[in-house]
Amino acid sequence: MILKRPTEIAIMAEAADINREALELVAASIRPGVSTLELNKIAEDAILSKGAKPAFKGLYNYPKTLITSINEVVVHGIPSSRILLSGDIVSVDIGTFYKGYAADMAKTYSVGDISQEAARLIDVTEKSFYVGLEQAQVGNRLGDVSAAIQKHVEDAGYWVVREFVGHGIGRKFHEGPEVANFGKAGTGPVLREGLVLAIEPMVAQSQTAVEILADGWTAVTTNSSLASHYEHTVAITKEGPKILTKKGQPVFSLASVGGFSGKA
Ligand code: MG
Repeated sequence: MILKRPTEIAIMAEAADINREALELVAASIRPGVSTLELNKIAEDAILSKGAKPAFKGLYNYPKTLITSINEVVVHGIPSSRILLSGDIVSVDIGTFYKGYAADMAKTYSVGDISQEAARLIDVTEKSFYVGLEQAQVGNRLGDVSAAIQKHVEDAGYWVVREFVGHGIGRKFHEGPEVANFGKAGTGPVLREGLVLAIEPMVAQSQTAVEILADGWTAVTTNSSLASHYEHTVAITKEGPKILTKKGQPVFSLASVGGFSGKA
């Protein structure tokens, strides 16, 4: 694992700010009738206007700036002329390179009026991230994070997607270690000061495999259950995990998450 100096983390925080601000512009435009291609343009324009570079475009030959994954699409949905409809959920994943460092973030949004079941899936996915994040402390093991996410998701009756995982991030978009959203506490590498991770639970409504569609990217649940995604870029510090992709880059505390009722 590659550990970053505070000066490097400060640059990553700049990349993370640009990335978050672009996602906020996209989020403000999510509504019935907008196409995912329009959202892609909003994100690309925002990133380029800051002198930064869309990180996904060209990464493993991926064609677009955004990833827009609708309903049963877990991840890697490619922006298209597909119009968002009321009742859809759309997971938007965005990455930025700035001054040689990467940031990565994702969130699932509701379009118009969504079902209570879909809203609960989104809520549980987000909370599982924070339950995992609470374990992202210097001296803990990576498996502590993975196990906490898995327990929260499964206690809620949902399924952790196994086929995709989070990752270290820095000068390369994908660095070690892999950050699984399932695993055993007390296992895996010890977390150290200066490690920066993209922690990103992907959750389906029920137990399912994932298959890739003919475009070579779009990953869907094979049982067509809805899927949700939530991701931040996080620096491990002595003070606790610092969420680089949140405004002000707060050091995380469970009490800071509004309305949080999950157990740690
Ligand atoms: Mg990621």
